[in-house]
Amino acid sequence: MAKSRITVDIDLEAQGKHVGFARLPHSVNRSAYGWLPIPIVSIKNGTGKRVLLLAGSHGDEYEGQVALTRLVHAFEAEQIQGQLIILPMTNYPAALAGTRTSPLDDGNLNRLYPGRADGTPSEMIAHFVETQLMPRVDLVLDIHSGGSSLNYLPCSTSVVQPDAQSGALDAVTLMRHFGAPYGLLIKGKSGIGSISEAATRNKILRIGTEVGGRGWVERAYRELCEAGIKRVLAHLEIIASEGLPAPHEMLLIEALPDDYVYAPANGLFESAVRLGDQVEQGDLAGSIYFPATLDRSPVPVFFGTAGMVLCERPNAMCEVGDCLLHLAHPVSTQAR
Ligand SMILES: [Zn+2]
Repeated sequence: MAKSRITVDIDLEAQGKHVGFARLPHSVNRSAYGWLPIPIVSIKNGTGKRVLLLAGSHGDEYEGQVALTRLVHAFEAEQIQGQLIILPMTNYPAALAGTRTSPLDDGNLNRLYPGRADGTPSEMIAHFVETQLMPRVDLVLDIHSGGSSLNYLPCSTSVVQPDAQSGALDAVTLMRHFGAPYGLLIKGKSGIGSISEAATRNKILRIGTEVGGRGWVERAYRELCEAGIKRVLAHLEIIASEGLPAPHEMLLIEALPDDYVYAPANGLFESAVRLGDQVEQGDLAGSIYFPATLDRSPVPVFFGTAGMVLCERPNAMCEVGDCLLHLAHPVSTQAR
């Protein structure tokens, strides 16, 4: 495989805590020989499990960016047994701009794996994470939220790949230790370029989250991310477990294609439900209004199935095809 063009200005093999940049080559009019500084931290002490902590794969998801920033400040090498590699702004150009995709190439980092060594900036980052960071670790913990266009009840997530080899670590066990109230199992599709596929290729586990969103940092959700990460690290014996809050009991859930409600018209959406509500098939999800064309009646939107409201669009303005809401259902225990 081609060698990454992204270089790291700290030694990822070195013992101790090192804070630096992964240098993303970026030759532009303002800076011919320049590079973009992707913040990266390595905290290594002795031998033990190794975890890659990522946030900002989508630049408008802030809970994880804040949680990882706080963990970088909090952890010293002496507290660690093993290694943490931490990137709070994984798709740095997107995180800097506060946008889901990169303003440089419109790249959605979680659709671009395995990336390309000589591709666009987002492709180069995907290639770097897959070929330079994943081979160094046993687990990827990848913090996501709803970003600016969605808002989620707090979930840990795992993509169940058809060809996954879970090895010694089991994703659901790790999700229970993370301790969010919900554990969302996502049926993997191959070939969409997700980081989960990259982890599977590297024969390591990846668990993620969907925690909040709406372009906001809900303090309780950021605290959950931070405590959840620490509980997973304690389970892996990387840090001590003393003083950590107990995990929330986790309900395993899944979302099927019929659970998603999409806008059938461009207009202003008023939701009829709240996160956590239980709804039946045919219940009113909300109405779309058209204040610019007053002769047009509001369009009601209905749920196509029953379930719990897990995710909402926090913006009233919508266009045809926007996801307005989605439901989820408990996974039957027999399925596991
Ligand atoms: Zn995301």
